[in-house]
Amino acid sequence: MARELNQKHIDEIYELLLDSKRKIENTLNTISREHDGLSDMDLSDDGDFAAASRDYDNDIHIKVQQQEELSLINHAISKIEKGVYTGLCEMCDSEIGMKRLRVKPYAKYCIDCRNYIDGNKK
Ligand SMILES: [Zn+2]
Repeated sequence: MARELNQKHIDEIYELLLDSKRKIENTLNTISREHDGLSDMDLSDDGDFAAASRDYDNDIHIKVQQQEELSLINHAISKIEKGVYTGLCEMCDSEIGMKRLRVKPYAKYCIDCRNYIDGNKK
């Protein structure tokens, strides 16, 4: 029988989530600021332009990842605020475990389900 997280652990996860949320919002803000700067830049040299657009592609990639993470974080935060957060896997109801949640506080699935989903994505 999987045990739900106690309040002390939920509070800890909540703090971690708010912290990650702040960090991601900072990263996303920095990326948008850089892109605003990029369009103002005078990129007359082809080499400069290639380098700038490589950075841009890379930033877009980071941005997409960060936005996905942010939506998972918001999902977890809203569950905690509604009092329905259990710390159990949304797929199989087993414990995700504090060790995993401390690294990935927004994790929805236990490691087995995560691997199963990732394995099916290919
Ligand atoms: Zn699971």
